[in-house]
Amino acid sequence: MFNPLSILLVTILSGVMAIAVLGSLWRAAIPGVGYWLSANAAAIVALLAFALQGHAHASQWLTLVASNVLMAASLLLVLEGCLRFLGRRTRPWPAYLGLVAVLFGISYWTFAAPNFNARVAVVSAYHASLCVALAVLMLRGRPSNRPRYSYYFVAGAALLLVAAHTARGFMYGLGWMTQASLLQVSPSNVLFLALGILASPCLSIGVVMLAHDRLAERLERLANIDDLTGALSRRAFLAAGDALLDASRRSRSPLAMAIIDIDSFKAVNDKHGHATGDQVLSHFATFIARNLRTGDVFGRLGGEEFGVLCPATSAAEAVSLLDRLRARLAATAPHERPCGLRYTFSVGVDRLRGDESLAQLMARADGALYAAKASGRDRVMTA
Ligand code: GH3
Ligand code: MG
Ligand code: MG
Repeated sequence: MFNPLSILLVTILSGVMAIAVLGSLWRAAIPGVGYWLSANAAAIVALLAFALQGHAHASQWLTLVASNVLMAASLLLVLEGCLRFLGRRTRPWPAYLGLVAVLFGISYWTFAAPNFNARVAVVSAYHASLCVALAVLMLRGRPSNRPRYSYYFVAGAALLLVAAHTARGFMYGLGWMTQASLLQVSPSNVLFLALGILASPCLSIGVVMLAHDRLAERLERLANIDDLTGALSRRAFLAAGDALLDASRRSRSPLAMAIIDIDSFKAVNDKHGHATGDQVLSHFATFIARNLRTGDVFGRLGGEEFGVLCPATSAAEAVSLLDRLRARLAATAPHERPCGLRYTFSVGVDRLRGDESLAQLMARADGALYAAKASGRDRVMTA
């Protein structure tokens, strides 16, 4: 079981499984998946070539040069996939140069001056450097709003490979260990191969986790963000509102709520068409979101009606904030408005009282909005 050849065969099988799992993610068009699939394919071919070592008719070009270079390229493809996954546009050129150096090194120490230890050292140095880059990329590149788990998992697998390759590179490079071929059965060789076999499926599992996290992010976005305006959906706004209510009660600080409704919006649709109406909605939401403070919560309650929750804000402060926004929107130049159209909005404001629920607070703000509409629109009123 623990001989190098069977370890290679198990790694090949795990590569095939990784391809099957990554293949299921192909249609989701997640950046990086193509690279990760190619990385596994390259690794399988490389491992098959390694496994032919010692075979009387197998050329050293295949079993030593092509196998090592393909294995190194496989790791480079994993790194490339992770760069694409994180939206980086740059190519890791030093890693490509390193790959060429590996090609020359392996060829030299295979044909010109055959030296097994030197080959191990150059290959290990390359793998260790790429894995350091991969770990740093995962630890630094994680978007702050995503869970750490999958990113740390990939970084952990990469660091495991760094440790194994560094130890292997030094031991063989400094001549502490000698060996004639990769498939020779020795405890240290089996140990290093076993670490290799553990780390590469871990890397594959890790990148599958990353891809699944991306799918989860897409679903969360669909559920929480309104497509047209980029504001929170009603569901997400209410959930954020409940959390703000709890926080404001705990810290005994005020919480203000505003319900905003665009005036005579039906007329915009009727006169200028639904597409222009959509542009007005999107313009309005961008304008409001840009002018709120961090910590304020803004969502689309439905149609042309929006909600704003302002923590640590009294009703009077919320009124003056919304009134400033009203004046600022009225003052925007025609070329900054959708189709040059002038539009206004009305607002109902109130603050959280006693032990009431979010629904009760919203009902009062809604009453104030109704009053603002009834008294002529384009104004902010409190309950
Ligand atoms: P008021 O000043 O009293 O608020 O009048 P209003 O015309 O703004 O209000 P009303 O409720 O009569 O009309 C709202 C309109 O908003 C009707 C509906 O077709 C339109 N609407 C709702 N959602 C969308 C949307 O996503 N896009 C567009 N273009 N129109 C929408
Ligand atoms: Mg309206
Ligand atoms: Mg309305």
